[in-house]
Amino acid sequence: MEKEINKDCQEKEIEHGDCEEKKTVSRNFIEQIIDKDIAENGCTKVITRFPPEPNGYLHIGHAKSILLNYGLAKEYGGEFNLRFDDTNPTKEKEEFVDSIKEDVEWLGGNFEDRLFFASDYFEQMYELAVKLIKKGKAYVCDLSAEEIREYRGTLTESGKNSPYRERSIEENLALFQDMKNGKFEDGSKVLRAKIDMSSPNINMRDPVIYRVAHLEHHRTGNTWCIYPMYDFAHPVEDAIEGVTHSICTLEFEDHRPLYDWVVKELEFEHTPKQIEFAKLYLTNVVTGKRYIKKLVEDHIVDGWDDPRLVSLAALRRRGFTPQAIQMFIELCGVSKSDSSVDYAMLEYCIREDLKFKKKRIMAVLDPIKLIITNYPSDQIEYLEAANNQENEELGSRQIPFSRELYIERDDFKIDPPKKYFRLYPGNEVRLMNAYFVKCESYVTDQDGNVTEIYCTYDKETKSGSGFTGRKVKGTIHWVNAQTAIEAEVRLYENLVDEEKGVYNEDGSINLNPNSLTILKHCYIEPSVADAKAYDSFQFLRNGYFCVDAKDSSEEHRIFNRIVSLKSSYKPEK
Ligand code: ATP
Ligand code: MG
Repeated sequence: MEKEINKDCQEKEIEHGDCEEKKTVSRNFIEQIIDKDIAENGCTKVITRFPPEPNGYLHIGHAKSILLNYGLAKEYGGEFNLRFDDTNPTKEKEEFVDSIKEDVEWLGGNFEDRLFFASDYFEQMYELAVKLIKKGKAYVCDLSAEEIREYRGTLTESGKNSPYRERSIEENLALFQDMKNGKFEDGSKVLRAKIDMSSPNINMRDPVIYRVAHLEHHRTGNTWCIYPMYDFAHPVEDAIEGVTHSICTLEFEDHRPLYDWVVKELEFEHTPKQIEFAKLYLTNVVTGKRYIKKLVEDHIVDGWDDPRLVSLAALRRRGFTPQAIQMFIELCGVSKSDSSVDYAMLEYCIREDLKFKKKRIMAVLDPIKLIITNYPSDQIEYLEAANNQENEELGSRQIPFSRELYIERDDFKIDPPKKYFRLYPGNEVRLMNAYFVKCESYVTDQDGNVTEIYCTYDKETKSGSGFTGRKVKGTIHWVNAQTAIEAEVRLYENLVDEEKGVYNEDGSINLNPNSLTILKHCYIEPSVADAKAYDSFQFLRNGYFCVDAKDSSEEHRIFNRIVSLKSSYKPEK
C-alpha cells in the first residue's frame, strides 16, 4: 500500500542491520534528497525542526509534520528541534505554547533540550536586518500597506519601485533604529528587502521584512515594537539553529527563492535547504487551525479538545493513541501532491492498535431490564470471562450474575423481523459468558414501550460447561443490574455532514446535527470501577470506549466512544 500512495517514492536497497541480508525499502522524495546531501553535498548531521506558531492547538495535519521531521532526525541519527515561531504577538498565547509542547511529547516527538523560541533571536534578527541595510539590501519604506500592494503589480504586470527605495544607507540605519525605539506609529513605516520589483515571483518584489507593531509579546513583553515578518524570520531561525533540512508545506514553494535570498545575503556559513511536501487533509473533518479556532470561539464545540475535532488534544481525549496516529501517518506517506485521506483510515488505525491490547467487557448502552424468574433472588454467582478472546495474555476476570440483568433494548423485539436471532417472545438466546435464557413474557408502559422482559434460564447451559444439548442462533451481552456501574456514554459522528461537504456556499461550516449523542444511563460491568482518565476498553459489540479525561469523575463516569467496531475501510494490500 505504501507504494501505491507514495508516488514520490523510489525503491532502494539498504543494508539491513548487521546481517548481510538486503532489504528493499521505499525512500520517499525527502529521504532521497537527504541521501544525496549526505553522499554528495557534505551534510554530516541532519537537523530538522517542527516550527509551530503558538496561535492555536495542533491538529492531525501537524502530526504529519512532527512525525516526518522527528522521524527523519532519528533515521539519520540527527537532531530534532521544537521551535516556536512566535513572531506575531497578536494571536499568540502561552496556553498554546503549553498545549503544543504537550502534544509533541505525547506523539513521541522527543525534543529534550532542543526547545527554541524565535523570540529568543529578536536581538540577533535586528542585527541581521541592520546588516542587510548596511549592504544596501534593505530600506525603510513609508508607503502604506495599501500603497505597497498597489506598487507590487500583478502576476502579469511588473511592480513599481517605491519612492523610498533609494534612501541612503545612513538614513535607513537611522530610521530603522527609530522604528525600533518606538518613534513611529504602527503601520507608518516598514523595512523592506531590496530585491527586484519586476521579478516574475511576486514574493521577491521588495517584500516587507520588519513592521512596526506596538504589541505586547507573550515572552518578550514590551521590549519590542518592531517584529520580523515570517519570510525573513524563518530562514534566519533555521540558519541560527543549524537546521539542515527545513521541511514545510507546499504553500511555501513560491517563497523558497526569498528564503534562499535571505540565507545568502546574510552570509550564513550554514545554509539550510527548504523542502516542501503536501499537507494532510482528511475527508469530512475540519483541519485548518483557523477553522477549528472559529468552532471553538463560536462555542459550536466544547473547547479545543472537543472529541469531535481532529486537534491532537481532541483525539487524545477521544481515546486515540500516539501509536494509532503514527500508523496512520505512515500509511498516508509523503507526497508532493495535495489529496484528502479518508477519515475511515484513521479509524482503521485506532482499531488495529487497540484490538489486542484492550479488555473486552460488557456494557449496555440502551438498557432494558431482564428478569430471570427461575433464578434464586438472593443468589449471586461469578462467571469466568476471557478479557480478550484474541489475546490470552490479557487473562480473564470474574463477572457477577444474578436474577436481574440489563440487556440492550435493541436485542429484544416483540415482533421480530426475518432473520432476527436475538430475543423475542418464545425465543432462546445465549447470554454471553453465562446461560441460555428464553423469553417467557414482557411488560410495557402506557405507550407500548417494553419496560421489563421475563425469562427463564437453563442451568445446564452454562458457558464453558461443554453443554451440547441444543444450539441457539443469537448471543447477546448483558450486565448484572445490582453491581453494574452507571455511566454516561457519548457517541460521536463526524462534525461535518458527509454527504454535503465541509463548507456551505456562504463559507460557513456545514454541521452534522447528530455529531454528538449523549446516553445518560448506561450500565457497565464492575470491572471498570478503577478506570482512570484515558483508560480504554472494548465494550463488546458496541465499539472502543475511553474514560473522558475532562468531565468524568467517580460519582459521574463518562465514556467517549473512540470508534465503532465495524468499518467499511479496507487497507489496500
Ligand atoms: P493551519 O494550516 O492549520 O492554519 P499552520 O500551517 O498555520 O496550520 P503552523 O503552526 O504555522 O500552522 O504550522 C507548523 C508546521 O506544520 C508548518 O511547517 C506547517 O507547514 C505544518 N502543517 C500545518 N498544517 C499541516 C497539514 N495539514 N499537513 C502537514 N503539515 C502541516
Ligand atoms: Mg501558520
